[in-house]
Parts: sequence; C-alpha cells; structure tokens
Amino acid sequence: MQNTLKRLFAFCLVCLSVQAAVAQQQPLQTPEQFLGYTLGEQFTTHARVVDYVNYLAQQAPNRIKVQEYGKTYEGRPLLLAYVANDENLPRLEQIRENNLRQAGVMSGTVQGKQPTIVWMSYNIHGNESVSTESVMQVLYDLVDPNNQQTKQWLQNTVLLLDPCVNPDGRERYVQWYKQTQNQGGNASPYAWEHHEPWPGGRPNHYYFDLNRDWAWQTQIESKQRLAHYNNWLPQVHADFHEMGAESPYYFSPAAKPLHESITPWQRQFQYTIGDYNRQYFDKNNWLYFTRENFDLFYPSYGDTWPTFNGAIGMTYEQGGSGRAGLAYKKQDGDTLTLKDRIAHHHAASLATIQASSEKADQLTQEFRKYYQNNLQKPAGDYKAFVVKADSRSAGNLKALTDYLDRQQIQYGYAGKNSSARGFNYATGKEESVRVGQNDLVVSMYQPKSTLVKVLFEPTSNLEDSLTYDITSWAMPYAFGLQAYALKNRLEPSNQKPAAKEANAIALERPYAYLARWNSLQDVKFLTELMSQKVKVRMSEKPFETEGQKYDAGTLIITRTGNEGIADKLDTTVRALAQKHGVDLRATATGFVSSGSDFGSGSVRYLKMPRVAVMSGEGVSPYAFGEIWHYFEQQIGYPVTVLGTNYFGSVPLHEFDVLILPAGSYGRVLNDQTLEQVKNWVRGGGKLIALETAAGFLADKKDFNLKQKGADEAAEAKEKEKAAKENPYVNLKAYGDRGREALSEDVQGSVFRVNLDKTHPLAFGYGDTYYALVRTADTFEFMKDGWNVGVLKKNNYATGFVGTKAKEKLQDALILGTQPLGRGQVVYLADNPLFRGFWHNGKLLFGNAVFLVGQ
Ligand SMILES: [Zn+2]
Repeated sequence: MQNTLKRLFAFCLVCLSVQAAVAQQQPLQTPEQFLGYTLGEQFTTHARVVDYVNYLAQQAPNRIKVQEYGKTYEGRPLLLAYVANDENLPRLEQIRENNLRQAGVMSGTVQGKQPTIVWMSYNIHGNESVSTESVMQVLYDLVDPNNQQTKQWLQNTVLLLDPCVNPDGRERYVQWYKQTQNQGGNASPYAWEHHEPWPGGRPNHYYFDLNRDWAWQTQIESKQRLAHYNNWLPQVHADFHEMGAESPYYFSPAAKPLHESITPWQRQFQYTIGDYNRQYFDKNNWLYFTRENFDLFYPSYGDTWPTFNGAIGMTYEQGGSGRAGLAYKKQDGDTLTLKDRIAHHHAASLATIQASSEKADQLTQEFRKYYQNNLQKPAGDYKAFVVKADSRSAGNLKALTDYLDRQQIQYGYAGKNSSARGFNYATGKEESVRVGQNDLVVSMYQPKSTLVKVLFEPTSNLEDSLTYDITSWAMPYAFGLQAYALKNRLEPSNQKPAAKEANAIALERPYAYLARWNSLQDVKFLTELMSQKVKVRMSEKPFETEGQKYDAGTLIITRTGNEGIADKLDTTVRALAQKHGVDLRATATGFVSSGSDFGSGSVRYLKMPRVAVMSGEGVSPYAFGEIWHYFEQQIGYPVTVLGTNYFGSVPLHEFDVLILPAGSYGRVLNDQTLEQVKNWVRGGGKLIALETAAGFLADKKDFNLKQKGADEAAEAKEKEKAAKENPYVNLKAYGDRGREALSEDVQGSVFRVNLDKTHPLAFGYGDTYYALVRTADTFEFMKDGWNVGVLKKNNYATGFVGTKAKEKLQDALILGTQPLGRGQVVYLADNPLFRGFWHNGKLLFGNAVFLVGQ
C-alpha cells in the first residue's frame, strides 16, 4: 500500500515539474487577476479553484507541488498542495519518511534537517463555503516570491493544504446560490439566497457529514485523504469551518470536555495557537471567542482525530455558513460580507503557519516524545485488547482488521492458549479470560496506542457531560465482537492464525450448499446470489446435519429449484463464497438429524425484493444517505429512491419493500397516502420505519406500536417528595439551564438489547445486539406483534445517559415487527446504520430487508 502510494506520488510530482518547466517566467497572478474578480465578489466554482491551484504549481514549481489524491463520488478531483521552500520541496519524500521515523512507524534514522509539518483542511462542510475562497489567497501569499514573511516561515515549515475536502457538497451550495442570488447579493435575511433548500450543501454526495467521519472513514473522500494523512502524520492540523451567521469567530483553545487522552503539551499548545490568532484579530478589532461550544471529545472530528494521532488539532469557525451568501444583515444591524469572512479565515491560516514556524523545534520535539511515550509508556488502565475468534465472528473480525489497517494500528494473533484477567465487554465485569491461539491481540505498546485507547476503551471518561456529540463508540460494541480489555501486557505473536480447515466441499455436485449467516459479508453474498438469479432458501430453525450444527438464518442453496442456471450453479456459488469470505459447506442430503429437513415449510425461499426508500423534503438527509450508501456502496444492491414531493402518485405495487428513514412525515403521509401505504402492506408489502418514522406511525390506526409516555403521576409525586425534603429544590440558577436539560438526554450510548433469537430480524446475533441509542423516545412492548429487541433493567453498557432518560430506556421496545394483512411492518427505534460506522447494525438492517416476512 505504502509503496504504491509512494510511486504514485513520485509520478505526479514528475509530471507536474515537466509541465512547470514549460511555463514562462511571468509575474504571478493574484486570485483576482486569474479569476477576473476580487475574492468575495462571487463564489468560485470548484473547477476554477482547481485551475488556480494548478496554475500556481505551474508558475512556481520551486515553491508548490500539487497532487490529485483522488476523486469524489461525483467525480470531482481532490487535491493536496505541498508548499515548501526550494530547499525542502525537492526532498519532500525524505521529509515524509523522516517524519514517520520520528513517529516510529518507519524504521531507520532521520536524515538532514527536519522541518515541522502543518496540514490545513478547508471546506469539509460544503456550504461553509468561505474556506475554499480564502485558501486561494493563502496559497498566493505562500507562493508569492515578494512575500518576505511567508518566505521566512517556510524556512522550517512544510505545508500540506487541502483546498476543498468536500467538493460535491460545496458545489451543491455554490451552484444553488448562483442560481438564486440577486445580482451582487441581497443582504436581507429574508432573501431566498439565504435559505438553502433540502438537503443543503453541508454533507457529501451520500449526505454524510465528513466531519464526523475522520475516525470511521466510511466515505471515499475520507478514505483517500486519510491514507495520505497517515503517510505524513503532521505536527499541526487545522480544520476550517463556519458556524451560524450571527456568531463572530472561534479559534482555540477548545471548550470542555477535552478527552483525557489529550496530553498536557497538546492542551498548552491550544493556548499558544490561540495567542497568535488573538494578535491578528485584536489588531483588526475583530470579534472572536474561545473555550466555548467546540469541545474535543468525540474522536471523529478534524481536530480530535489528528490530536489522537499526535498532532495539535484545531477547528476554526467563521460566522456565516450556508446562510450568509455574499452579504448578510445581522440582528445587530451590521452586514457580514463574504470578503469579511475571507479576511478572517485568511488571518487564522497565517496565524497558524506563523505559530508553527516560530515554535517548530518544540513541535518536533514534542511530537517525537508523544510517539515514544505511546510506544514505551502507553496511557490508561488497559495494556492489551483481545478479540475472540470463532466461526461466528469471522466476518465481523475481518471488518475490524480492515478498519485497523486503515488506521495503521498494529495487531496480531495470540499464537498460543493462555489465561488472563480482563474486562469483559459483554458483561461489563472483570473476569478471568481464556485467550485462544487464534484470538486477535491489539497491544498498547505501539506507536498509535493513544488512538487504540480512545477507540477500544470500554468507557471514555467525560469531564463534562455537555458535549456536542455521541459519548461512546468502543470498537468491540461497534463491531459486535466478544472482547476483553487486559490490565497486563500481552503481545501478539508473529504467527498467523492456524489456517482454517480446508473448505469442506469434497462433493462436486452436492445436494445443497450451506452458508452461515453472521455478518455483512453474508448479506453481500446473499444479494449477489440473488442478482445472479440463484435461488436461495433460509432455515428458520437451527439444525444439525452430517455432524455440523447450524444456527437459524443459515442459507441453503439446493440443486432443486436452480435447474434454470444448470451447470453455472456450482461455479457461481463457490466463486461468490470465495469473493465474500464465506465459509461455504456442501451436503449430500436434504435430511437433517435435528431441525427441519430442507423440504420443510420452515425452510423459506428468499424472494429478491424490489426496494424503495423515501427521500426529499421532510426526510433527514443523513438518515436517508446512510441507507442509500448501504445499498449502493456497501452491499451493491439496487434501490429506488422515491421523493416526498410526488410520493402520492407512485404505484407502490412496483415495490416489495418501502423504507422510511428518520424524518417528519406529517405532510407526505397524510390520511390519504398513509391509507395507500397500508393497503399496499395488506397486499404483501413490507414497510420498514426507522427512528422518528416509527414514532410517526406509533399510536396511529392499524399500527400496533405505542409511544412510551412519561409516567406523569409518578414524576409529580417524586417532585413533591423532593420539595418536602428540600424546600429550595426548585431554586435553579439561570446559568445552569443547559445542564438541567441533560437529565432528559441520552448522547449516543451503548445498550445491550435482548433479542428474541427465534425471529428472523435477530438471526445471526445470538442473544444480544449492541445498540447505539441516541434518543429516550422509546416504545412500549407491543401487545399484537413481535417484540424482537427490548431493553429490560440493567441493559446499559456505556456512554452518557441522563437520569430521566435512563428511566425511559427501561422496559422499552427497540426492534419490533407486526403483521398487517399479508404484509409486515418493521419498527427500528434505533438507527442500525448510524454514520455508516456501527458495523454491528448492518446485518440487522439486512435481516429487516431480506429475511423478515419471507
Ligand atoms: Zn463545519
């Protein structure tokens, strides 16, 4: 991987320097001269931004090199501009390798003088569109041969600038704005140009928020970018954003909570950078704030993830975003212009470079120390993490190791059986652990141990519960794996796990093929079989045949029924099993020693469903995007997207499954269209409603789901009792109102959901599903229907939950189904596809679409 990247990198540099040699020595054009307008007079399209960056590279080949590191989902180029002085630019590769040697992720010794490396990312949120405008001015200043100041900074600093992290989202905003604006812009907050339509330009093509994706890397933009990031590991990373148009400017130091894994040095440098910024802003009399709103806890932001990779990570926030356009009249009567916004991000960029250059030696020293400590004195109570390997976990384990590879986290296998004591993620208790030779071991004694700690520790200490985002994400829960955290050191052996027994297909033309159902890989296997017209059945009951036990949900592919594809059956099934890593078995008989024979009624034929998903105004773009991405990018299965604006005229009989992502459905599902949907379900359709879509159906005629109301009488009683004990209990401080509301909150916390494992919605899981619960709005157990996943007492695993919320999450329905006529309604109160990173939910969603009601 690294070698390929290196070669690609070298190649790009060569071709660009050839181009550059052709260029004539002409005075360097400013953005204004090149574009034909002053920055801030209009928004610049992505194509023109790319043109300007390439122009600079051609004109100033001794100062800047440009690399196209990938393409977006919509095919737009993603660029990295490398800026350095003429001494460092030709030896970028050596500088990069030196840096990895400093971090201990590459062997060898540092050669030559090592500059500090600063990476700046612009416009990860598409409609925070000033960022990309300002980077053109920043690049010009850095490249301008007459600029003595930047020349001085570049003596000991190498810069990597990503001019636009999210071109698809930005272009969605910019094109809409250009089509909508008054000539020259209209500052009235009521003008159309200040009211972006659904879905807005913030997310990428699949409506993922890329600034929640740094640690998970589910999106193509993140995957490509962070592969490069990991090959560089800069000392400083700055991420440029915008916030509400009424706010002024935010820079470091960050707000609480700060994750405990952030070192004293990283905390201190937040203040140093803040001080440099302050000077630029004070000099110009610009308003700003620090230490509020933007915390450093959730690990998947552009400030935290780089921080856990040894950098000083920070966020810059300009007031504006998709609201502000070219000019915006604020409530205080002042007009915020795009030119103002550019000036502020430009100043913060320069302040960051100046601070990094003037503190370069210290940054480099501390960076080395950070990685040394990671390797030799890793922080935290746990020194190793062990993930159990068994026949059920193979698919999820493969997904986890793929993920660790992307993070450049080292792991290995135990190599021998042993015993230890450790925290059991499943029970939440300290227990004795039997480590098996094939179990996966992640040791904390490695360069990236801070990141390992943050991603694996069962509970992340929260110094203040007022945070911006989810509060738990521990990998064993996210991947649904049996795991232990050990207090004692355990190093993986160099041995690979013992090879699996050779695929037990001795038979050339077996009676049937069998495949277990345990992970997303199995869903991919099934859907590809369906697409290739292979008929697949599924056992509703566990069974045993030829000495092997199989769980309910096992796929059965019989020769009978597949005569249509004749000889292709064997080659197709075997090839697809291999492609998806499925442990395929073959059997010579349809008779089972326990369970149901393959001709039984409880071995169900799985019809290939025609799937539709609702999108458009009213639907949450993120929730919809997660489903869209699941079908197109994760399992490669056809899905038809239906818009809320014409849904009433869609002939639903064209589809077998209709998915309603979270959203507000009052308008689209009015009495008439809801009746159409019900009739379609009665005729055999399957309706899958997630989160607030399930809430919308609750308590409506023919839907058996009931919202769980608060027990008001009990609450009143409790309040009365509290007031008797303390007459001043209701005297609350106004300043604490944000904190008060927290008792109602659950902030992305992990719960152990008890499953009815005899229901197809739960197949492949055993007794427990780990849900990432983000709302306390839950449902009662259904009287008429199947309560497939429920929370009882003590099902809480980890993360922040307010006291009132905790009560509501007791004895609640999370996953359920009900028959309606010949069809089915599936309720998923929890979102199993949240941000595409909760791997453990992907099989569950596959069950809902492909198994339930068949
Ligand atoms: Zn942002």
